[in-house]
Amino acid sequence: MSGTYDFDLFVIGGGSAGVRTARIAATHGARVGIAEGRFWGGTCVNVGCVPKKLMVNAAEYGTWAEDAAAFGWSFGERRHDWMTLVRARDEEVGRIAAVYARMLNAAGAKTYEGRARFLGPHEIEVETPDGAQRVTAARIVIAVGGHPTRPSIPGAALGMISDDLFTLQEMPRRVLMVGAGYIGLEFGNLLHGLGAEVTVAYRQSLPLRGFDHELREAIAETLTQNGLTLLPNETPAEITERGGTKVVRFLSGKVVEADAVILATGRAPNTRGMNLEAAGLTAREGHPIPVDDDHATNVPHIYALGDVTDRVNLTPFATATGHALADTLFGNRPRKVSYENVPKAVFTTPPMSSVGLTEEEAAVRGPADIYTARFTPLRHTITKRAGRRALMKLVVEAGTGRLLGAHMLGEDSPEIMQGMAVAVVNGLTKAQLDATIGIHPTVAEEFVTLRTATRRVGDAAKAA
Ligand code: NAP
Repeated sequence: MSGTYDFDLFVIGGGSAGVRTARIAATHGARVGIAEGRFWGGTCVNVGCVPKKLMVNAAEYGTWAEDAAAFGWSFGERRHDWMTLVRARDEEVGRIAAVYARMLNAAGAKTYEGRARFLGPHEIEVETPDGAQRVTAARIVIAVGGHPTRPSIPGAALGMISDDLFTLQEMPRRVLMVGAGYIGLEFGNLLHGLGAEVTVAYRQSLPLRGFDHELREAIAETLTQNGLTLLPNETPAEITERGGTKVVRFLSGKVVEADAVILATGRAPNTRGMNLEAAGLTAREGHPIPVDDDHATNVPHIYALGDVTDRVNLTPFATATGHALADTLFGNRPRKVSYENVPKAVFTTPPMSSVGLTEEEAAVRGPADIYTARFTPLRHTITKRAGRRALMKLVVEAGTGRLLGAHMLGEDSPEIMQGMAVAVVNGLTKAQLDATIGIHPTVAEEFVTLRTATRRVGDAAKAA
């Protein structure tokens, strides 16, 4: 069948999911084409994880320099030069994006620079700088990702979105973040660390809906201690401008002025203008593309991966599913990636990280023992810095002792959680953690020395 088409596989979108799928499929010997309309590497490399993490690092150096004084260090005047950071960050982003494009070519995939749209179930047109090019493919993967959205309120265009943060030529002094998801907290915290006055307004009573409640309480307290102003239970109603100052009015009547308003209110799939209907796809443009557990859409030879499916919108999940799909279709190694127990992190200072069930999710399923520890990491017994107390938490199935979830707010929590994820994903028990010798003195050792349960939850679920 595939001999009659230009390609065995055509991938639309050169981000985390698309590049991995194309590269692995090509390595398995498939004839692969891939189109990217904006930048190789997609959101994560260009306007997401990578430049964000470098900016988090930049912000942290400031606090580390301050903390060093408690250990006897003294430095000269403390000053941050925004453009030095911007240049260093952009150079690294450019390097990684180029590596992505090179890897595709090295694997033998044919790359197209331009936006793609469907002409039929097997036919695609790519709008390249050299004109429109038509290609046909036996199988097609849609991995076009998403983009930040603005709430539908008057004056929303006066607000910035996360992409805009990476083109700023100077740091805004007063920042209002709207939304307290990943982006609201990460960017709010890093801009505060670089010297901005930051307010985060959100419509729930706590940030990070969906995370463990106790961790949400702890992060709200931590961010406040860091010096951010949190405004819970506030929904924006309109944005206006007065002499260069942005003015946000909330439904409650509250008014906040800022030099920059950053709308971190979620993302939407990049499917507009793709002419999905021509391929027989039932998904509505601008909406997520539904897929089954094999990543197939309603058209069996067309697949969708990554943020465009709006399932687990995280880069490592996108690359893992792309790799698995390429192995399944072209590598004679059928396999699936589990949607459960995907570890995640919010890169605030300190960061928060989780894997598995929250206390609330576990309590609905049945009895679970909750182990918690709160303490000041050794370093901060000397720095006396506020906002650095760690919270570590295990959710354990009662009876079996199986680890259901691990959660942590504290320095290095994403680094620590990567190891804990191995334990949770593989169904290890609390007894197996207890049998593991800690490394002393570390923060991580708490996870193997939590002896007594703090509480039992979920007994009612069992009775019901
Ligand atoms: P998000 O995590 O879904 O958070 C969106 C926030 O905006 C929530 O606080 C939400 O409030 C609020 N919101 C939504 N619509 C609103 C409206 N009309 N008015 C006021 N507030 C509104 O989205 P995000 O922070 O934009 O990030 C997008 C996705 O990118 C994430 O879900 C994640 O998958 C990915 N991401 C991951 C990382 C990481 O892994 N570290 C970092 C950045 C982004 P409610 O809770 O009330 O809905």
